Amino acid sequence: MDLLFPIEVDNLAELTKKCAYCGGKGKDGDTSCVVCGGDGYVMVKEPVKECPLCEGKGRYGGKKCSVCEGTGWDKVVG
Ligand SMILES: [Zn+2]
Ligand SMILES: [Zn+2]
Repeated sequence: MDLLFPIEVDNLAELTKKCAYCGGKGKDGDTSCVVCGGDGYVMVKEPVKECPLCEGKGRYGGKKCSVCEGTGWDKVVG
């Protein structure tokens, strides 16, 4: 077992969620994702909830969601 993001071991891992804006790729087109900074993941606070506006998609009306800032999650750390 050699997981990059172990799910059961570390509390921090539970709060690391895939960036909805870039779909976890870390890129938005040709440039680094402005939401996650190229990591492909964002940190969120508990309780983790999907963004009510974009429903976890990170985009709303073809643009970056203004509620979750493109993360797809309701409460983002930092
Ligand atoms: Zn991203
Ligand atoms: Zn949103």
